[in-house]
Amino acid sequence: MAQILLIEDEAGIASFVMKGLSAAGHQPTAVATGRDGLNHARTGGYDLVILDIGLPDIDGFEVLRTLRGEGHTVPVIMLTARSSVDDTVTGLESGADDYMPKPFRFEELIARVRLRLRAAQPAAQGADPTQLQVDDLVLDVRSRQVDVGGRTVDLSAREFSLLETFMIHPGQVLSREQILSRVWGYDFDPGSNVVDVYVRYLRRKIGAERIQTVPRMGYRLVAE
Ligand code: CA
Repeated sequence: MAQILLIEDEAGIASFVMKGLSAAGHQPTAVATGRDGLNHARTGGYDLVILDIGLPDIDGFEVLRTLRGEGHTVPVIMLTARSSVDDTVTGLESGADDYMPKPFRFEELIARVRLRLRAAQPAAQGADPTQLQVDDLVLDVRSRQVDVGGRTVDLSAREFSLLETFMIHPGQVLSREQILSRVWGYDFDPGSNVVDVYVRYLRRKIGAERIQTVPRMGYRLVAE
């Protein structure tokens, strides 16, 4: 559920990426020029920027250098031409966090988006970047330990990332599709009931009342 800014002048690519990002549960905004992109990115209201190089006014490199020069640290994925190693190198030197060679499949892009958002997550957590806390639930990202009301519980790797997903969005309703794409990745069959099964496992370990079923929508981690 990240706010993502897409700076891309090719309408076909923009609409394909926008649809995919929305389907993955994000809130994307698209602009078609470097200047518009810069103005949007400067607001600081985005979790991630996807930036094309070839734009009609100022190119992607300049947008990126300007942003970095002004101290903006928002993660940036650059869309580069597959054939151009120079573009990729220049992009990374200008302060891009990652690059996506064109043409790409949406799954390739969303995998990088997920990775960049996850990498940026600890910095946004404030005081202790390795810990997530919701009421008396404490999840330590580094030691992968979970405490519930002061008691340590053992979680499997999937249960851990499911709880982590809930704790990044406390009190927010997450659909099965959103949970699937975050915890199991994109290749999973959307008709699968694996999310319900794992929510059941997790409830047994952390207390059933902590994860609420929201009919026809999904699940929510209860946060006081
Ligand atoms: Ca372009």
